[in-house]
Amino acid sequence: MFGFLKHIRQKTKILFLAFILILIPGAIISYLSLKSINQKAENLEIKYSGTVRLVRDKLESEIFRLEANLRNHVIESFPESDNVVELKAWLRNIESENPAFKNLFLVDTDGGLISSSVSLGWHRLLGSRPFLNKQAATDIKMAENAEFIRKNLIEAITLYREALSSAKSSPECILVLSRIGRCYFKLGDYNEAAKEYKKILELGNNDVMIGEVPASIVALSQISECYEAMKAYEKKNNVVLHLYKQLLDHPWDLSGGEYLFYLKSASARIENLAASGVNIHSSEWNIEDLMIRGDRMFEHIWFIKLIHQDILSQVESDLRTGSHSDSPSHNISLEEGDSTLQLGFSKLPQAFQQYQLLAMGHQFENEYILSNLFPEILTSVELGKDVFVGILGEKDSLLFIQQNLPISNYLVAENFNQLFVSWQVALFDGSGKSIEQLTRNERVLYLVLFTGIIFIMLIGIVFMIRAVIHESEVSRMKSEFVSNVSHELKTPLALIRMFGETLDAGIVTDENKRREFYSIIRKESERLSHLINNVLDFSRMDTGVKEYYFKETDLVKVVKSSLEAYKFHIRENGFEIESELPDEAMMLKIDKDAISQALLNLLSNAVKYSTDRKYIKVEVSKNSSTALISVADHGVGIPKEERKKIFEKFYRVSAAKGEEKRGSGLGLTLVKHIVEAHGGTIEVESVVGEGSKFTLRIPLQRII
Ligand code: ADP
Repeated sequence: MFGFLKHIRQKTKILFLAFILILIPGAIISYLSLKSINQKAENLEIKYSGTVRLVRDKLESEIFRLEANLRNHVIESFPESDNVVELKAWLRNIESENPAFKNLFLVDTDGGLISSSVSLGWHRLLGSRPFLNKQAATDIKMAENAEFIRKNLIEAITLYREALSSAKSSPECILVLSRIGRCYFKLGDYNEAAKEYKKILELGNNDVMIGEVPASIVALSQISECYEAMKAYEKKNNVVLHLYKQLLDHPWDLSGGEYLFYLKSASARIENLAASGVNIHSSEWNIEDLMIRGDRMFEHIWFIKLIHQDILSQVESDLRTGSHSDSPSHNISLEEGDSTLQLGFSKLPQAFQQYQLLAMGHQFENEYILSNLFPEILTSVELGKDVFVGILGEKDSLLFIQQNLPISNYLVAENFNQLFVSWQVALFDGSGKSIEQLTRNERVLYLVLFTGIIFIMLIGIVFMIRAVIHESEVSRMKSEFVSNVSHELKTPLALIRMFGETLDAGIVTDENKRREFYSIIRKESERLSHLINNVLDFSRMDTGVKEYYFKETDLVKVVKSSLEAYKFHIRENGFEIESELPDEAMMLKIDKDAISQALLNLLSNAVKYSTDRKYIKVEVSKNSSTALISVADHGVGIPKEERKKIFEKFYRVSAAKGEEKRGSGLGLTLVKHIVEAHGGTIEVESVVGEGSKFTLRIPLQRII
């Protein structure tokens, strides 16, 4: 398979080896560099991952420390009271001193909740019907009879007024007044009704409840209804504002829903007021402030209801059994719409049980934590040059970054462990690049280098192999050439010698025979000299010492005389020869010997490569720029794929067995060299089995 290698010169082999010796280490170095870049990226990742975990742990431990502080604060500052208002104020105070937390709340043993603004199911808030003295109770009963059974409202009012005179305490008066107001309202006497309700307000006792809300709230609400019915809108608006403020200032228990009913209907009226652009000039009421406070209140209500419905049941058993005694806080994250609520619970110590308090809870104030707490903690963290910490939220949104930089990518990110599970702590490079981007340039450089070297190697190898194959082909042809030429030399010499000896011996007496022998000797010696001329000329051309002697000559004359010299030989071989030469001379600056040698080579090929149809046509013509000499035959023709190769040195078209012709493979190489030395070209047209036509084109600028 590698037999062709034996024809390769030593020099080529050394070159090939040097090529491999340079390129293989180059490729190895590029590959190793590429690997080392990847290694570098991995090392960076390991380094930054370690750092980011340290930062994450530090932030988390600081938050746990704050949580523990909050719990201590609650335990130490407990007012030891069960008064709702006091408890709310206390919670508000703790909130204001612990800005990392909000929505602080207490859980009582029945699962009731109280926050700094609202309470839900809180055991100490249940209202009770005021105690009535006997006389007042009898009077009220009679009045109720008149109001509901006999439906006589006038009589009912009179009877309620009697009950009022027997009422002793303000709760009793409030109860009766509200009923008188109700009767007037039913009668359609709104003015009187409003007057009665106002009397309730004048009594100023806020502890008296009607149902689940204080009597003053019911009274204010009723007064606003009266003004509405009387179409006294300005008055009504003032009352509604008053009512709303009271609802916000003193939120009662949310459990029964009455408070929420009043709050929602008052809030809707306030919104209508604001939307209709009614201007309420009062230094006391600022409608916008009220609406903001209202929104906050609704948020608190939403929060406390959420805790009540979704969270308490989840953590209650933990709180009761105290299974979190080793880590007092129990933290949970709650997905709510787009955001995640981060909450903490802890069981309160034994001392709180006598006030029926079981646990406390809080929500983390994310904004404060991100914009105040984390920056402060991070000032004490040494991160290294040009590296910054950021916090990522949902979908890698940037919530906080240490430096205000045009950051786009992070180096590494790590999830929080127990708190803020939807957040990640991330490290950023000052240039805002990821690890991949930081090493990309080097990676690309080495990758290009590596592929470049491999590519050059492949191209080099392909060229090398082609050169080696070509060289071995030339070597093969050369050795074939030597054997061909030796054969070509031997045959005519043997013939000359044989016929010479025969003649010399004087045994041939027949004159005709003798002449035939002389002719053979002449022809064979001509052939010999033609071959030797070819070989010598080729050797001159190959070594670059062949010289041409250009002289202005008539091309037609050169062709004519060459034909004359060769005609005899052609005819003798049974060929019909036709020539088409111009009558006038065609003066060109040519080497006439070289041109006639080229023509003789073409003619001898035409003779050699023709079989039955022995016909040759020689033409000389010219067009505007070129002189043309063509030799056509009706011989074997040349296959298309061989037409280019036949001009290469030593190349011979391999013939079928038994049809091989003698030759050196130099004839056409010489012709091509000669015509190119004249600035011209050689072309071949051929059809296999039909014949060939060789045309020499010599530029006319040589005409003098
Ligand atoms: P040689 O004739 O000594 O083999 P040449 O260089 O003259 O070498 O020709 C190269 C090859 O071209 C020949 O081997 C032959 O196959 C082909 N050839 C040349 N002239 C003709 C022709 N007139 N008709 C057919 N084949 C030709």
